[in-house]
Amino acid sequence: MTQQTIAIVGAGFSGTLLALHLMRQCSPDTRIVLIERNEHFGRGAAYSTGNSSHLLNVPAAKMSAFQARPSDFLDWLKTRSSEELGGLQPLATTFVPRAIFGRYISDLLETEMKSTLHCGQLELLRASVRDIAPRGGGLVLTLGDGEALQVDRAVLAVGNFPPSPPPVADSSFYDTDSYRSDPWAPDLLANLDPQAPLLLIGTGLTTVDTVVSLLDQEHRGPIIALSRRGLLPQNHLLGPVKTALPETEEFPTRLTSLARFLRDRSRRAREAGGSWQAVIDELRPLTTEIWQAMPREDRLRFLRHLRPWWDTHRHRISGPVAARIAEAQRTGQLRIQAGRIRTYAVTPTGDVDVTYRPRFKDHLETLSVGRVINCSGPESDFGRIRDPLVRRLLDQGMVRPDSLSLGLDITRTCALLGRDGGISRRLFAVGPVTKGAFWEMTAVPDIRQQAEYLAGQLAALVKPAAVAAQASDATWSI
Ligand SMILES: Cc1cc2nc3c(=O)[nH]c(=O)nc-3n(C[C@H](O)[C@H](O)[C@H](O)COP(=O)(O)OP(=O)(O)OC[C@H]3O[C@@H](n4cnc5c(N)ncnc54)[C@H](O)[C@@H]3O)c2cc1C
Repeated sequence: MTQQTIAIVGAGFSGTLLALHLMRQCSPDTRIVLIERNEHFGRGAAYSTGNSSHLLNVPAAKMSAFQARPSDFLDWLKTRSSEELGGLQPLATTFVPRAIFGRYISDLLETEMKSTLHCGQLELLRASVRDIAPRGGGLVLTLGDGEALQVDRAVLAVGNFPPSPPPVADSSFYDTDSYRSDPWAPDLLANLDPQAPLLLIGTGLTTVDTVVSLLDQEHRGPIIALSRRGLLPQNHLLGPVKTALPETEEFPTRLTSLARFLRDRSRRAREAGGSWQAVIDELRPLTTEIWQAMPREDRLRFLRHLRPWWDTHRHRISGPVAARIAEAQRTGQLRIQAGRIRTYAVTPTGDVDVTYRPRFKDHLETLSVGRVINCSGPESDFGRIRDPLVRRLLDQGMVRPDSLSLGLDITRTCALLGRDGGISRRLFAVGPVTKGAFWEMTAVPDIRQQAEYLAGQLAALVKPAAVAAQASDATWSI
């Protein structure tokens, strides 16, 4: 059998983890090429932040890169010097800076590459992939410099895309310097007058990050965060999280029953001395199964009406971050508004007048700000994503958006579907772009499971079945 090559496009958390698992699960003669357009491998948008106040929103005990070794991250933390951890105590309940988690992933990659077992099996390639097309029974990847890379299979691990701007009648404002479209850009808050009033579009986790960065750089001007419902993420509990109720015997899969179930169980948990946080966490291992069993019309209703509620209760913020946000609200520097943006007008002084309609009101209000920053969360509607590789793949019909506009259309074994509905045996995806099929495919605990599972699938495809059966012990239920 000739040597097989698997390319992974994107070396954020998903692509890097997949590479680690492929090295373990594929035969040693399988070549793996991990391609990343940015400087760092293993970081991606989430873990390349240089700001040590940007904390993980999951405690250290739950952030292991490996399902089978739950304490791996914590053990790694314990081997670091206090200086490296910025004086942080590596406890199971600690919310660690995201930059440290990024170092952990890079470290795993480096260690695995140095291991004699996998010597030379993985190549890191710094390049932007512009195109992927079928050729000669495999795929050819066109890189930024025009070079071509012939591979047998490829996996899209392209992750999170910056948010799209809210639709307005005249969108020319979005081309001005007063608008910032990418909340993860390193120069987001550069050249900012510390007294300038700011408008942040969105009130979720990205807004929380941006407010924290603004406070860190001693921004003194007012910060207004506006979203349709004006819901901020809820807080994690400090102590142990428990429902204080007997285990649930059955989880509903119809939306109305599920919403009623969550409301009632949360109320009963609180009455019994437990917490609603524990009720949400209890659902966690089953979320994908509930999503897949839920009728399509219910999934659509969930996305239309309940998603912001779910997101703010499910993706919670740590105590120290919540305290800073609460303090900024208390002093009046941070104001949360619910409403919809209608117009922008840049005034002769360079300020921006933003009109919006407050939720449940008929009149318009105007805010005068120095800069508008879009923090409304990653764009998942592939009809709106302008990324050149995504556009090429869609235009060629190699992939198609999923029917709920949450990502790309994909099978439960992570194979991409083309425009005509054909299932590719060459092109796969991992991470947030698979949300349409799995819903919960955002956080580390879900992605690590998916990466391991997909590695097993690919290992089975690139080598004889008998060998693959021995090698793959991934046990993900999908
Ligand atoms: C700001 C933020 C904070 C988060 N915090 C947490 C947290 O605390 N806990 C938690 O569990 N989860 C968190 N998450 C969620 C989760 O961990 C991330 O979504 C996850 O890291 C996704 O990884 P990814 O590799 O799929 O995507 P990304 O991190 O987006 O990485 C994709 C990579 O692909 C590269 N790429 C894209 N296109 C190309 C191309 N054409 N050619 C070459 N390279 C390309 C990009 O440069 C990027 O490095 C957070 C997410 C974000 C955005």
